[in-house]
Amino acid sequence: MSDSHKNDAELIANNQADSCDQQQTLLPIDDVLKILQDKAIAVKRVETVSILHARSRILAEDLTSSINVPPADNSAMDGYVFNAADVSKSSTNSSSSLEVTQRICAGDAGQTLQIATVARIFTGAPIPEGADTVVMQENCERQGDKVVIHSIPQAGSNVRKAGEDIKQGDVILKAGHKLRAQDLGLAASVGISELTVKRRLKVAIFFTGDELREPGQTLGLGQIYNSNRFTLNGLLESLNCEVIDLGIIQDSLAATKQALIEASEKADLVMTSGGVSVGEEDHIRKALESNGELGLWRVNVKPGKPFVFGEIYNKSGNTPFIGLPGNPVSVFATFCIFARPYIIKKQGSNEKPPKSFMVESGFEITKKETRNEYMRARLDYDDSGKALVTLYSNQGSGVLTSASWGNGFAFVPAQTLVNKGDLIKFIPFSEFSIG
Ligand code: AMP
Ligand code: MG
Repeated sequence: MSDSHKNDAELIANNQADSCDQQQTLLPIDDVLKILQDKAIAVKRVETVSILHARSRILAEDLTSSINVPPADNSAMDGYVFNAADVSKSSTNSSSSLEVTQRICAGDAGQTLQIATVARIFTGAPIPEGADTVVMQENCERQGDKVVIHSIPQAGSNVRKAGEDIKQGDVILKAGHKLRAQDLGLAASVGISELTVKRRLKVAIFFTGDELREPGQTLGLGQIYNSNRFTLNGLLESLNCEVIDLGIIQDSLAATKQALIEASEKADLVMTSGGVSVGEEDHIRKALESNGELGLWRVNVKPGKPFVFGEIYNKSGNTPFIGLPGNPVSVFATFCIFARPYIIKKQGSNEKPPKSFMVESGFEITKKETRNEYMRARLDYDDSGKALVTLYSNQGSGVLTSASWGNGFAFVPAQTLVNKGDLIKFIPFSEFSIG
C-alpha cells in the first residue's frame, strides 16, 4: 500500500468510524483536496484538432516555434524608409528632402535601397537592405518624386525587428495549457494549423430523487424540478467536458447500483446529485460499497457536507465517482470547491487553483458556525471605488437564488465571528470560469 493510499485509508477509516456519531469529526477541506489531487490521473489519450476547433482544449505537448515572428524586419507605419546615417549627413537641421526610389507594400520583397534616397513603405512591408528607419507619412510632404521629411525620427524608429515577438526555437505554449482564443492566434502566428490536445474528459451524470421532474413537465404534489441537472451540465460544459446525461434515477438500491455500473462503463468519471446523506432513501453510498469503494464522505464544509468520492468497479476496471449532495447550492459549491480541481487535473490541465483576495466585509456573523462556510456573496464598489462584500439574505443550501444573485463566495472559517469592516476572503465566481 502506497503512502498516499495509507493516508486515504486512515482518513476513510476515521471518517467511517465517526459516522455513527452525529458530532463526528468531518474531513478537513485541505485533506479532501489533497486526496482528490492524488487520485486524479490525467487522461492519456490525445488527438489532433484543427486550431480553428481547439479553443478550451488542453494542449498535450509543448509547442515550439520553427520561425521568427515577425519573420523579417518590417515597417510599423505607413511612411518612408531610409538609412538614418545617410539622412543625417544630408539633412539641414531636422528636415531633409530626399528622392523616392521605390515603393514597398506589405507582401512585396523590396530591393536594396539606393544610398541617400528613401522608399515609400506601408505597414507590414519589409525594410529593404540598406535602410533602418521609418518616418510616418504624417511628418512628411510629398513633392513629385521627392519627399520632404519635416521631423527626422531617431535611427531604428518605427521598425518591428525580426523575431521581436517570437524567436525560432522558443516554446510558445506549454503542455497542459488550456487554449484560449489568443493562444490559437499565437499558434497560427508561427504557422501551426493543427494541435495535439488531450481527449476531452467524458463525465457521465445522473440525478437521484423520486421527487424530481424535468422543466416542461407539470409538478404533482411533493415534486420539484431537476434544477441540478442544468447546474451540473453547465458547470461541466464550462470545463469543456463531454457530458453523458443519464437523467433521473429512481430512489432504490437496485436502480442506483445498476445506474452506477452503466455510467461507469461509459465515462472517465461518474457524477451524481442527491442520495448521499443518511436517510433511508439515500442509496448512493450503499450502492457504491456493493460494487466499488467509498473513498471519502462527509467534509467540514457548508454547504455540502455529505460530499462523496470513490470508485466504481466494472468490467474494464475502475471508474472514479463523485457524489454531490442533493441540495442545489451544495451541488454548485462542492463542484466548485472539490470536483472542479479534480476534473482539471484529470483533464491534464495545468490550470492554477482559483485566486482569492481579502476584502472588507459589509456583513457581520454573530454566531459561530461549526463548519467552514462558502457563503454566497456579492463584491460591489461604492461611488468612491471602495470594495465591499455583502451576503445574500438567505444562505440555505436549497436557496439557489443566492448563487444566481452572487458573484463569488465569501469564505468564513469554522468558529469565526465577523464584524463589519473585517477583512474576509472572497473568491469571485469568475475564478471558477462561471463568472
Ligand atoms: P437528498 O440528498 O437526495 O436527500 O436531497 C437533498 C435535497 O435536495 C432534497 O430537498 C431534494 O429534494 C433536493 N434535490 C435532490 N436532487 C435534486 C435535483 N436534481 N434538483 C433539485 N433539487 C434536488
Ligand atoms: Mg434524495
